[in-house]
Amino acid sequence: MANKEELNPFKIAQSQLDECAEKLGLDEATHELLRWPMREVVVSLPVKMDDGTTKVFKAFRVQYNGARGPTKGGIRWHPDETVDTVRALSAWMTWKTAVVDIPLGGSKGGIICNPKEMSDGEKERLARAYMRAIAGIVGVTQDVPAPDVYTTPQIMAWMMDEYEAIRREHHPGVITGKPLSVGGSQGRHDATARGGVYCVREAAKRLNINVSNASYAIQGFGNAGQYAATLTKEILGTGRLVAVSDSRGGVYNPDGIEPLDMVKWKLQNRRVAGFPGTKEITNAELLELDVDILYPAALENVITRDNAENIKARIVCELANGPTTPEADEILHKNGVHIIPDFLANAGGVTVSYFEQVQNTYNYYWPIEEVYEKLDQKMSTAYNSVYEMHKKQNVHMRLAAYMIAVSRVAEACKLRGWV
Ligand code: GLU
Repeated sequence: MANKEELNPFKIAQSQLDECAEKLGLDEATHELLRWPMREVVVSLPVKMDDGTTKVFKAFRVQYNGARGPTKGGIRWHPDETVDTVRALSAWMTWKTAVVDIPLGGSKGGIICNPKEMSDGEKERLARAYMRAIAGIVGVTQDVPAPDVYTTPQIMAWMMDEYEAIRREHHPGVITGKPLSVGGSQGRHDATARGGVYCVREAAKRLNINVSNASYAIQGFGNAGQYAATLTKEILGTGRLVAVSDSRGGVYNPDGIEPLDMVKWKLQNRRVAGFPGTKEITNAELLELDVDILYPAALENVITRDNAENIKARIVCELANGPTTPEADEILHKNGVHIIPDFLANAGGVTVSYFEQVQNTYNYYWPIEEVYEKLDQKMSTAYNSVYEMHKKQNVHMRLAAYMIAVSRVAEACKLRGWV
């Protein structure tokens, strides 16, 4: 029996970096510096619950590397959150901001909780408690949080308000992904999916894939998954959504599912199951469908060495963070599956977060067309430079993306005299 596959996200992030460091011939000090977060904060948050009891939540903020600018990264609220997940996500944020070349570092936050079982009042008290605990280490020039899994624009607004109450000044740029009326940016709501679809459009050109009536499937139907459903059709001008799934299961119809109807169904029923005219399938079956484009848009480690051989999609656009393990990467590469790696594919979110910060600093806001145009330019440039690297160095797409991102971060560390 072969060894068990490594599924700890931080160990995976480190091994991805190790492979890249070797390929780049990175010096030992820089490599060691880039293997670890610069700063980690762990806090316990006592929160009054609606039933009168007090519950203590454990939470993290990990600032991975700030050589290229203030650290940046979302906050996840999830019952299975661990410090290693947050560490991995903060490393991936560092490579994400570098690969799209925005002047920011990487960080991430997490709270162990189940927001599906919490009232709005409980969520607000938890959001404010978290911000009070980390207020000393965040800020426009230090570290800027944003939404991630199960956190929303409303939660960002509460956190911003708490921070401003502490500072007794306006600081909208302390957090991004805010609602429009309190300093959010046009186009932030669908930016993660939009950025991914721009990459798919570029990939189809490079790979000579005819997108007319391209079939696509989406695993995970939260913010990124829902917008990927509608935007694939809109941006490619064509496409057939054949399957979607969420944590409760999936649905399939080879003739096509109307994306907007599916989104409405999910919002009304809080699940994709039961959508009229579809057949039920599992998450595992969805991943193995013979489609042109597969979007993993949920959580980590869904494509592993156990199912990688069965992945039939031509393009895998990773809207989730960390959906594919390193062993699966090798198998997909060998089988000619074109991966658009997570920290490139889902970089649209942080890119528009960066635009939001810029607008907050100017206190002057752009029309949506300007946001789309600037996002398209950033994503297309990043995708094409990763593709060129992949061809030139004959390495898989994730390694190519790592080589570009890590070189940029390493250069900034050197110029600062850190290594
Ligand atoms: N949480 C998102 C991500 O993983 C967005 C981060 C941000 O906007 O700062 O990229």
